[in-house]
Amino acid sequence: GDDGRCVRLSADRAQALLADVDTLLFDCDGVLWRGETAVPGAPEALTALRAQGKRLGFVTNNSSKTREAYAEKLQRLGFGGPVGPGAGPEVFGTAYCTALYLRQRLEGGGVPAKAYVLGSPALAAELEAMGISSVGVGPEPLQGAGPAEWLAEPLEPGVGAVVVGFDPHFSYAKLTKAVRYLQQPGCLLVGTNMDNRLPLEGGSYIAGTGCLVRAVEMAAQRQAEIIGKPSRFIFDCVAKEFGLNPDRTVMVGDRLDTDILLGVTCGLKTILTLTGVSSLEDVKGNQRSDCSSRNKMVPDFYVDSIADLIPALED
Ligand code: PLP
Ligand code: CA
Repeated sequence: GDDGRCVRLSADRAQALLADVDTLLFDCDGVLWRGETAVPGAPEALTALRAQGKRLGFVTNNSSKTREAYAEKLQRLGFGGPVGPGAGPEVFGTAYCTALYLRQRLEGGGVPAKAYVLGSPALAAELEAMGISSVGVGPEPLQGAGPAEWLAEPLEPGVGAVVVGFDPHFSYAKLTKAVRYLQQPGCLLVGTNMDNRLPLEGGSYIAGTGCLVRAVEMAAQRQAEIIGKPSRFIFDCVAKEFGLNPDRTVMVGDRLDTDILLGVTCGLKTILTLTGVSSLEDVKGNQRSDCSSRNKMVPDFYVDSIADLIPALED
């Protein structure tokens, strides 16, 4: 790389790097799999890392799956790990971590906490598991002919937070409801993640959760607290549960603006894999930029695929 970073991780370099590392944190989509297809060689790479005693964690911005559903997907695609009820202690998704955040912020008062959720049933399930009930999940029709009637619709009492995640049922009706809750004193605004796009297999994409969070921020004229990568909060969740030493931890990801930025911000070693969103061209652009926030979005190392780690793990 131009400034000595973003070096190709050869087998020799990988061996030296891994000798100084206890824990590897993996982004999921674009690193381990794309959609429902495992990246070739990725399951074998993880099996070899586990065999060498490395601890693995999975850090995903996807808010539409529970920890347990992620554990099941890891198992199904050949990545191992525990299954069944209570499975997924290695998985840190934004649904689970949003629940951790709300538990911290909504506790006390003796009243059960409630959230207005623009998001999936999985997000609601993770909140529920931490004692936070949710309203709003699923399609919500706009009731009435115009603003006066929209505003006359009763609000649920006791809502202490509006949570915005990936919501295929996002609508003007929900936006209106969210803004009404946010006008109530003390109501929190939390976004699971700010991904602008959600890449699909074959190079196409759909609008990401960041678009929905921005819509609510715009209407409410306030900023959401963001849980997912590159926010430090999601790393703190992992660090607390794993007892991590950042210096002996690697973050492996396919996106410069989420995974790699998180790693750089939190003092981790970083590896970009080229099986997902970001390219070496994107890295070069960030290295050459005179914008200091773009300069941070440069990994220490890159691999074509995490399968490239396998030779370094054979003895
Ligand atoms: N958000 C949603 C709703 C997704 O479905 C995905 C990927 O499947 C992501 C975010 C990105 O996830 P990751 O952080 O694992 O790349
Ligand atoms: Ca990814």
